Amino acid sequence: MKLILLGAPGAGKGTQAEFISEKYNIPMVSTGNMIREALKNETELGLKAKSFMDAGQLVPDEVVIGIIKERLDNEDCKNGFILDGFPRTIPQAEALDKMGIELDKVVDFEVPDEAIIARMSGRRVCGACGSSYHTQFKRPEKDGVCDKCGAELVQRKDDHPDTVKERLRVYHEQTEPLKDYYAKTGKLRIVDGQNDIAAITKATFAALED
Ligand code: AMP
Repeated sequence: MKLILLGAPGAGKGTQAEFISEKYNIPMVSTGNMIREALKNETELGLKAKSFMDAGQLVPDEVVIGIIKERLDNEDCKNGFILDGFPRTIPQAEALDKMGIELDKVVDFEVPDEAIIARMSGRRVCGACGSSYHTQFKRPEKDGVCDKCGAELVQRKDDHPDTVKERLRVYHEQTEPLKDYYAKTGKLRIVDGQNDIAAITKATFAALED
Protein backbone atom coordinates (compact mmCIF):
# COMPACT_ATOMS: atom_id res chain seq x y z
CA MET A 1 0.00 0.00 0.00
CA LYS A 2 1.40 3.39 -1.03
CA LEU A 3 0.03 6.24 1.02
CA ILE A 4 0.38 9.94 1.61
CA LEU A 5 -0.74 11.49 4.89
CA LEU A 6 -1.64 15.16 4.53
CA GLY A 7 -2.56 17.75 7.11
CA ALA A 8 -1.26 20.75 9.00
CA PRO A 9 1.75 20.36 11.28
CA GLY A 10 0.45 18.81 14.48
CA ALA A 11 -2.68 17.33 12.87
CA GLY A 12 -1.66 13.84 14.02
CA LYS A 13 -0.12 12.42 10.84
CA GLY A 14 2.91 11.03 12.66
CA THR A 15 0.86 9.13 15.23
CA GLN A 16 -1.39 7.59 12.56
CA ALA A 17 1.66 6.79 10.41
CA GLU A 18 3.05 4.73 13.30
CA PHE A 19 -0.23 2.76 13.66
CA ILE A 20 -0.54 2.16 9.90
CA SER A 21 3.09 1.08 9.72
CA GLU A 22 2.51 -1.55 12.43
CA LYS A 23 -0.76 -2.85 10.98
CA TYR A 24 0.32 -3.10 7.34
CA ASN A 25 4.00 -3.72 7.97
CA ILE A 26 5.15 -0.94 5.65
CA PRO A 27 7.75 1.69 6.50
CA MET A 28 6.85 5.18 7.58
CA VAL A 29 8.83 7.72 5.59
CA SER A 30 8.90 11.04 7.39
CA THR A 31 10.91 13.82 5.76
CA GLY A 32 10.78 15.78 9.05
CA ASN A 33 12.36 12.86 10.95
CA MET A 34 14.96 12.35 8.21
CA ILE A 35 15.91 16.01 8.29
CA ARG A 36 16.08 16.04 12.10
CA GLU A 37 18.32 12.96 11.96
CA ALA A 38 20.59 14.71 9.44
CA LEU A 39 20.70 17.73 11.73
CA LYS A 40 21.68 15.59 14.71
CA ASN A 41 24.46 13.98 12.68
CA GLU A 42 25.54 17.39 11.35
CA THR A 43 25.53 16.22 7.74
CA GLU A 44 25.58 18.66 4.83
CA LEU A 45 21.82 18.22 4.43
CA GLY A 46 21.25 18.89 8.13
CA LEU A 47 23.27 22.07 8.04
CA LYS A 48 21.44 23.26 4.90
CA ALA A 49 18.03 22.57 6.47
CA LYS A 50 18.60 23.99 9.96
CA SER A 51 17.86 27.68 9.36
CA PHE A 52 14.68 26.90 7.39
CA MET A 53 13.42 24.45 9.96
CA ASP A 54 14.12 26.64 12.99
CA ALA A 55 12.21 29.51 11.32
CA GLY A 56 9.20 27.33 10.53
CA GLN A 57 9.90 27.55 6.78
CA LEU A 58 10.00 24.72 4.27
CA VAL A 59 13.34 23.31 3.18
CA PRO A 60 13.83 23.93 -0.59
CA ASP A 61 12.00 21.48 -2.87
CA GLU A 62 15.11 20.14 -4.61
CA VAL A 63 16.64 19.15 -1.26
CA VAL A 64 13.63 17.15 0.01
CA ILE A 65 12.89 15.67 -3.41
CA GLY A 66 16.47 14.36 -3.47
CA ILE A 67 16.19 12.67 -0.07
CA ILE A 68 12.78 11.15 -0.88
CA LYS A 69 14.00 9.70 -4.20
CA GLU A 70 16.88 8.01 -2.47
CA ARG A 71 14.69 6.71 0.37
CA LEU A 72 11.94 5.30 -1.88
CA ASP A 73 14.56 3.42 -3.91
CA ASN A 74 15.34 1.33 -0.82
CA GLU A 75 14.32 -2.31 -0.88
CA ASP A 76 11.99 -1.89 2.16
CA CYS A 77 9.76 0.51 0.18
CA LYS A 78 9.10 -1.93 -2.67
CA ASN A 79 5.82 -3.22 -1.19
CA GLY A 80 4.59 0.13 0.00
CA PHE A 81 5.24 3.05 2.31
CA ILE A 82 3.56 5.84 4.25
CA LEU A 83 4.68 9.33 3.37
CA ASP A 84 4.37 11.59 6.40
CA GLY A 85 5.21 15.23 5.70
CA PHE A 86 5.91 14.79 1.99
CA PRO A 87 4.80 16.19 -0.42
CA ARG A 88 4.29 19.66 1.04
CA THR A 89 4.21 21.69 -2.17
CA ILE A 90 2.79 21.20 -5.68
CA PRO A 91 6.30 20.81 -7.22
CA GLN A 92 7.01 18.02 -4.68
CA ALA A 93 3.77 16.25 -5.67
CA GLU A 94 4.69 16.60 -9.33
CA ALA A 95 8.13 15.15 -8.63
CA LEU A 96 6.47 12.13 -6.99
CA ASP A 97 4.26 11.65 -10.05
CA LYS A 98 7.33 11.81 -12.29
CA MET A 99 8.92 8.98 -10.25
CA GLY A 100 6.05 6.85 -11.58
CA ILE A 101 4.62 6.07 -8.16
CA GLU A 102 1.04 4.73 -8.15
CA LEU A 103 -0.57 5.89 -4.94
CA ASP A 104 -3.39 3.95 -3.26
CA LYS A 105 -4.77 6.66 -0.97
CA VAL A 106 -4.09 10.17 0.25
CA VAL A 107 -5.51 10.77 3.72
CA ASP A 108 -5.98 14.33 4.90
CA PHE A 109 -6.33 14.95 8.66
CA GLU A 110 -8.38 18.07 9.29
CA VAL A 111 -7.89 20.08 12.47
CA PRO A 112 -8.68 23.81 12.93
CA ASP A 113 -5.72 26.12 13.55
CA GLU A 114 -6.72 27.03 17.12
CA ALA A 115 -6.77 23.36 18.11
CA ILE A 116 -3.36 22.84 16.45
CA ILE A 117 -1.81 25.70 18.40
CA ALA A 118 -3.20 24.32 21.68
CA ARG A 119 -1.99 20.81 20.86
CA MET A 120 1.53 21.65 19.79
CA SER A 121 2.44 23.03 23.19
CA GLY A 122 1.99 19.53 24.65
CA ARG A 123 3.82 17.65 21.93
CA ARG A 124 6.99 15.80 22.90
CA VAL A 125 9.31 13.67 20.81
CA CYS A 126 11.96 11.13 21.65
CA GLY A 127 15.38 12.69 21.13
CA ALA A 128 16.78 9.29 20.10
CA CYS A 129 14.22 7.36 18.00
CA GLY A 130 11.78 10.13 16.99
CA SER A 131 8.61 8.53 18.44
CA SER A 132 5.96 11.10 19.26
CA TYR A 133 4.00 11.65 22.48
CA HIS A 134 1.70 14.22 24.01
CA THR A 135 1.54 15.40 27.61
CA GLN A 136 -2.27 15.10 27.51
CA PHE A 137 -3.36 12.86 24.61
CA LYS A 138 -0.62 10.27 24.26
CA ARG A 139 1.30 10.02 27.48
CA PRO A 140 4.30 7.75 27.80
CA GLU A 141 4.18 5.13 30.57
CA LYS A 142 6.77 7.12 32.49
CA ASP A 143 6.71 10.94 32.21
CA GLY A 144 9.46 12.33 29.99
CA VAL A 145 10.77 8.91 28.89
CA CYS A 146 10.26 7.14 25.55
CA ASP A 147 8.28 3.85 25.82
CA LYS A 148 10.12 2.40 22.85
CA CYS A 149 13.77 3.10 23.60
CA GLY A 150 13.95 4.69 27.06
CA ALA A 151 15.54 7.96 25.89
CA GLU A 152 14.49 11.41 27.09
CA LEU A 153 11.46 13.15 25.54
CA VAL A 154 11.98 16.73 24.41
CA GLN A 155 9.97 19.62 22.92
CA ARG A 156 10.97 20.43 19.36
CA LYS A 157 12.32 23.95 18.86
CA ASP A 158 9.84 24.44 16.02
CA ASP A 159 6.91 23.51 18.30
CA HIS A 160 7.24 26.83 20.16
CA PRO A 161 4.12 29.04 19.67
CA ASP A 162 5.53 31.73 17.32
CA THR A 163 7.13 29.15 15.06
CA VAL A 164 3.90 27.13 15.06
CA LYS A 165 1.98 30.16 13.78
CA GLU A 166 4.49 30.60 10.95
CA ARG A 167 4.33 26.87 10.13
CA LEU A 168 0.53 27.14 9.88
CA ARG A 169 0.79 30.15 7.59
CA VAL A 170 3.20 28.24 5.34
CA TYR A 171 0.89 25.20 5.46
CA HIS A 172 -2.14 27.18 4.25
CA GLU A 173 -0.15 28.89 1.52
CA GLN A 174 1.91 26.01 0.14
CA THR A 175 0.58 22.65 1.35
CA GLU A 176 -3.19 23.05 1.49
CA PRO A 177 -3.46 23.33 -2.34
CA LEU A 178 -2.43 19.65 -2.41
CA LYS A 179 -5.94 18.74 -1.27
CA ASP A 180 -7.33 19.90 -4.63
CA TYR A 181 -4.43 18.30 -6.45
CA TYR A 182 -5.25 14.86 -4.97
CA ALA A 183 -9.04 15.33 -4.93
CA LYS A 184 -8.82 15.33 -8.72
CA THR A 185 -7.25 11.84 -8.65
CA GLY A 186 -10.20 10.43 -6.62
CA LYS A 187 -7.76 9.08 -4.01
CA LEU A 188 -8.26 11.74 -1.35
CA ARG A 189 -9.99 10.75 1.89
CA ILE A 190 -10.75 13.23 4.67
CA VAL A 191 -10.46 12.22 8.33
CA ASP A 192 -11.64 14.45 11.19
CA GLY A 193 -8.45 14.84 13.21
CA GLN A 194 -10.20 16.41 16.19
CA ASN A 195 -11.57 13.22 17.73
CA ASP A 196 -9.75 11.13 20.32
CA ILE A 197 -6.92 8.97 19.00
CA ALA A 198 -8.91 5.70 18.97
CA ALA A 199 -11.69 7.28 16.86
CA ILE A 200 -9.19 8.87 14.47
CA THR A 201 -7.38 5.55 14.05
CA LYS A 202 -10.67 3.77 13.31
CA ALA A 203 -11.61 6.40 10.72
CA THR A 204 -8.12 6.21 9.19
CA PHE A 205 -8.23 2.42 8.75
CA ALA A 206 -11.74 2.70 7.31
CA ALA A 207 -10.50 5.30 4.82
CA LEU A 208 -7.64 3.01 3.74
CA GLU A 209 -9.94 0.08 3.15
CA ASP A 210 -12.88 1.71 1.38
P1 AMP B 1 7.64 17.94 10.24
O1 AMP B 1 8.23 17.13 11.33
O2 AMP B 1 7.05 17.09 9.15
O3 AMP B 1 6.69 18.98 10.73
O4 AMP B 1 8.85 18.72 9.54
C1 AMP B 1 9.65 19.64 10.27
C2 AMP B 1 10.31 20.63 9.33
O5 AMP B 1 11.13 19.94 8.38
C3 AMP B 1 9.37 21.46 8.49
O6 AMP B 1 8.87 22.59 9.20
C4 AMP B 1 10.27 21.86 7.33
O7 AMP B 1 11.20 22.86 7.70
C5 AMP B 1 11.06 20.59 7.11
N1 AMP B 1 10.36 19.67 6.17
C6 AMP B 1 9.87 18.42 6.42
N2 AMP B 1 9.30 17.88 5.34
C7 AMP B 1 9.41 18.81 4.36
C8 AMP B 1 9.01 18.87 3.00
N3 AMP B 1 8.34 17.86 2.41
N4 AMP B 1 9.30 20.00 2.29
C9 AMP B 1 9.96 21.02 2.84
N5 AMP B 1 10.37 21.04 4.12
C10 AMP B 1 10.11 19.95 4.87
